[in-house]
Amino acid sequence: MHLRCSNTECRATLDLHDRALSCPVCTELLEVVIDPPTSTPAELRRTWLQRRCSYDPRDLSGVWRFREFLPNAHSEIVTLGEGNCPLLEGRKTARWAGLRNLRFKHLGWNPTACFKDLGMTVGVTEALLVGAKVIGCASTGNTSGSLAAYAARAGLYARVYLPAGQVSTNKLAQAVDFGAEIVHVAGNFDVALERLLNEARNGLYFLNSINPFRLEGQKTAMFEMLEQLGWQAPDYIVVPGGNLGNSSAFGKALEELHAAGFLNRLPRLVIVQAEGANPLAKLWRSGAVTLTPTEAPETAATAIRIGNPRSWKKALRAVRQTNGFVMDVSDQAIAEAKTVIGRDGIGCEPASATTLAALRQLAEQGQIDRDAAVVAILTGHALKDTDFILNSRLREPALEGVCCA
Ligand SMILES: *Cc1c(COP(=O)(O)O)cnc(C)c1O
Ligand SMILES: [Zn+2]
Repeated sequence: MHLRCSNTECRATLDLHDRALSCPVCTELLEVVIDPPTSTPAELRRTWLQRRCSYDPRDLSGVWRFREFLPNAHSEIVTLGEGNCPLLEGRKTARWAGLRNLRFKHLGWNPTACFKDLGMTVGVTEALLVGAKVIGCASTGNTSGSLAAYAARAGLYARVYLPAGQVSTNKLAQAVDFGAEIVHVAGNFDVALERLLNEARNGLYFLNSINPFRLEGQKTAMFEMLEQLGWQAPDYIVVPGGNLGNSSAFGKALEELHAAGFLNRLPRLVIVQAEGANPLAKLWRSGAVTLTPTEAPETAATAIRIGNPRSWKKALRAVRQTNGFVMDVSDQAIAEAKTVIGRDGIGCEPASATTLAALRQLAEQGQIDRDAAVVAILTGHALKDTDFILNSRLREPALEGVCCA
């Protein structure tokens, strides 16, 4: 396995353990190239299922269970038993969206309560391998909690850059609890990331989602979801988009599984952004060829309050390759959708509810068949942002006939 430039016109290659953050030739993002597995899909599906009966830490992890598609699978791994997240149905949510075959893949059921753990187990394993001592990230909250936890497990020093005053108390508390050094940055996430990129030049191991190892772990959400569906791909996979690492990881997973013969068709990947932080949705609508960052991103869904998403090219490629699309939804629609998800006993953080908000809109406008098989990705747990819940005033009008039925 090795690293490769994600720019198809460049394709420069680097050693797997090179710590470069971008291509030394053209500056585009790097990706891990996985050696094609030597077993057949049927053999691998059986192996992966059999591992669910094992107590080996590698098998108990919903990430490393799929290690044939991961780098560093034979080194010492840093794990908290991540993954293993349920696929849930909800009657009220389905009715509210107007869909008959809707499921939620709830990645908020991870150890630190969001999907970042899926990437962090692989990212921190790589950090240990290359001998890093200090690891860091810029974060709207969730990445910092996840990084802090895995750093603590690995005995590494964690430094996290947070936009001062803009991170939910619950997320901040996790980073404190796991012992990270917190740098409060005056400015938003984009400013914090810029600050950190300068420090990465001084030996800090950088663990934002431009780190290709993070995306390898996040890929496995698709493996687990497809296994839960008996390897029958749904028609649509709907995912919230912030820095667009997760969408990129999902695209890579689908591409690799398709190439290896696991899927006979590709599900359509739909990326949903918040209206106030929607640079990719704008690009999609306008047909522009380069992304214009949103200057002052604003949304109550703080996990996706990002104006300058670094992985936009990878994410756009994933959307195009799967015949998907990109859209945005209002904060009002997000709040309504989040309330309905709560009423199904599922719950999620605001950014995750963009998915249901988008689906209701698509079904209403006839842009999606009401019988389509849809999986909406819930990215974070309800307890990630309790202020949002307690301050939310909209309730009954939007939910009439749904929540009291
Ligand atoms: C990080 C995060 C997102 C955004 O994911 P990207 O990979 O940055 O697009 C969405 N929801 C939650 C809860 C998150 O923590
Ligand atoms: Zn390049």
